[in-house]
Amino acid sequence: FAQSATFRHEPNATPVEANERAKRLIDPGFGRVFTDHMAMIRYSETEGWHDARITARAPLTIDPASSVLHYAQEIFEGMKAYRLADGRTALFRPEANARRFQDSARRLAMPELPTELFLESVERLVKTDANWIPESNGGALYLRPFMFASEVFLGVKPSAEYLYMVLASSVGAYFKGGAPTVSIWVSQQYTRAAQGGTGAAKCGGNYAASLLAQSEAIRNGCDQVVFLDAAERRWVEELGGMNIFFVFDDGSMATPALTGTILPGITRDSILTLARANGIEVREEGYTFDQWRADAASGRLVEAFACGTAAVVTPIGTVASPEGRFTIGDGAPGALTMRMRDALVSIQRGTAPDENNWLHHL
Ligand code: PMP
Repeated sequence: FAQSATFRHEPNATPVEANERAKRLIDPGFGRVFTDHMAMIRYSETEGWHDARITARAPLTIDPASSVLHYAQEIFEGMKAYRLADGRTALFRPEANARRFQDSARRLAMPELPTELFLESVERLVKTDANWIPESNGGALYLRPFMFASEVFLGVKPSAEYLYMVLASSVGAYFKGGAPTVSIWVSQQYTRAAQGGTGAAKCGGNYAASLLAQSEAIRNGCDQVVFLDAAERRWVEELGGMNIFFVFDDGSMATPALTGTILPGITRDSILTLARANGIEVREEGYTFDQWRADAASGRLVEAFACGTAAVVTPIGTVASPEGRFTIGDGAPGALTMRMRDALVSIQRGTAPDENNWLHHL
């Protein structure tokens, strides 16, 4: 089924009119402006992957007993299509998202969507709704593939039916006018993932579980939460939706190793590759919160940044916990942080050579 599935195209009969679309694209923000179409593929144990189509974006009707609504068997992905400097359109490393989607599916006892179907669904949607890619500097089309359990059954077991979909959302520059620093709250009460759990999978449940900690961060005057490991509450893991890097006074960098509790970020992997290609030493190893605080105080730690698809690279200015607050460097974006950010953005925008073949041209 997988190899022979082809996409039916059902054009939206009432697409958003051009003037209105232009208005929505002026300042789209993140995740609120959606395009005219969506991709869908059904899966059932008896039929495999079938009924692939690009269709008008519309509400779904699902049975209230659909198992996702009860047991949260759901996974998702996030990536961007960019308008390049030369006018072409490209996705950034979508094969890596396809692979991670398969890894997440396995962990959630869901069927693995073949890479070709994942790529074709995203490519077709981007081509169909290409006029929704913002022309503005820093804008992009954010793609949200996701899959959920759609069997109508209240028993606790892997669903026999799934719906895979892709939404496209026009997004603006995450930070207008450069990259301000963010402040980080170290959650000591809540953890995100434990060994043997679902931390390395991109499943909705992980994010539901992180919301209270994120609220705690906001209540304490911080922008984002950073989680410690569940076993010892000592090791820095990642933010609610971004990985973390540390920069030291000897010019080296470090990021927590992928031990099964951290999401393997594609931005993280790209930064590791770019840094090493530029002769920068990067260690993938554990780093404790106590060490972080001590190194910030001694000056051994000079920069820290968070990274992910949405905001690319975000400098961390201050770190707060129930014991108090400390500043990274002088609290301003660090030089190596901004160098890594520029290196990555230049490749994504087609203004620097794509030596690793990360751009998937459409
Ligand atoms: N960690 C978490 C928990 C995330 O949700 C994300 C965003 N997908 C990341 C890290 C960064 O991953 P990526 O670079 O692939 O966007």
